[in-house]
Amino acid sequence: MQSESHTIETQAVHAGREELADWGVHALPIDLSTTNPLPDIEAGGHSYETMATGGRQPAEGSAVYARLWNPTVARFESGLATLENAEAAVAFASGMASVSAALLAMCTGQNKPHVVAVRPLYGGTDHLLNTGMLGTEATYCAVDEVSSAIREDTGLVILETPANPTLELVSIAEVVEQAGGVPVLVDNTFATPVLQQPLDHGATMSLHSATKYIGGHGDVVGGVIACSEETAVQLRQVRAVTGGILHPMGAYLLHRGLATLPMRVHRAQQTAQQVADWLGTHDAIDQVFYPGSDSESAGVLAGQMRGPGAMVAVRMSGGYSAAEKLTSGVRLFTHAVSLGGVDSLIQHPAALTHRPVTPEARPSADVVRLSIGLEAPEDLIADLDRALS
Ligand SMILES: *Cc1c(COP(=O)(O)O)cnc(C)c1O
Repeated sequence: MQSESHTIETQAVHAGREELADWGVHALPIDLSTTNPLPDIEAGGHSYETMATGGRQPAEGSAVYARLWNPTVARFESGLATLENAEAAVAFASGMASVSAALLAMCTGQNKPHVVAVRPLYGGTDHLLNTGMLGTEATYCAVDEVSSAIREDTGLVILETPANPTLELVSIAEVVEQAGGVPVLVDNTFATPVLQQPLDHGATMSLHSATKYIGGHGDVVGGVIACSEETAVQLRQVRAVTGGILHPMGAYLLHRGLATLPMRVHRAQQTAQQVADWLGTHDAIDQVFYPGSDSESAGVLAGQMRGPGAMVAVRMSGGYSAAEKLTSGVRLFTHAVSLGGVDSLIQHPAALTHRPVTPEARPSADVVRLSIGLEAPEDLIADLDRALS
């Protein structure tokens, strides 16, 4: 069903659903079996070994056990891999379970504990690296310092673009070049494959908190990494052994979310540009962070993205107290962490998502982040206008 000539909009609707018609069904089935009948001892043992060492699918007609493989999850992975132009994808229980699996596979498990981390990163990722809880040791740096930060024992370079929360763009190709063969992981949560496909720019892994845009409706926690089949084997092995699996119900919802992902992202992006333009004219706003309004981002934006996305941040002229007033004054926006859903959210990164980040890397207290949803732009602007006055 897929072909090179299909656009991402078409792929989003059809990818990972290839076998459904053969079974006489139209909607995605949910398989909740925790265990699977074994044809015989030999075949069962062989299949177990295949899955526990990261094989793509069960060997001889039995998936054995649901921590190793599940067809509903595998279909979602296949769909997501298509959208990312990747050979494979591996799904996890959350975005952070994905980050953990990547660190275990590339660093701890290879005896290459050093990680080069391009800041700014999602607060949870920054925190995980900073604690060294998984046996890793992080060097934080800017884009142009990556090559000098690489060591013999560097297992992974990690970056996020657009970055959280100030929407800075990082050139993936530039980091890949500086990494000189060390695997590069790009957190693609904010852009989604609709706007950016990191593997096309040389990245080894494209990671999502699928909790955000991919699910899109604020009702499922999940994570996924798109990569080569070779890397997927390593990630699946970590997943089978450590157990950070995605539940089939979550996989079903995420796969369902893929179908509308391009439409949601494009529409929210259109609204975000209008909201960002309006915010830029308001006295209460000192600065708007939005790649679509920032001339410094234009080069990287044109080189690796198909649009600036739907996340906007602002610096309040009135500092923290103005940020407090805005977040508690809105009615249509919900004051809540997370992002990428059908409804608009507003939050204060320094006090919430970036609270565990060390003070020198924490966003300043006058910054507020907005996730623009699918409401009409005029209604969102009216809500902000009321809260700002
Ligand atoms: C939310 C988020 C994560 C963590 O994902 P969870 O699903 O919450 O574990 C990682 N990276 C980015 C950019 C995020 O926004």
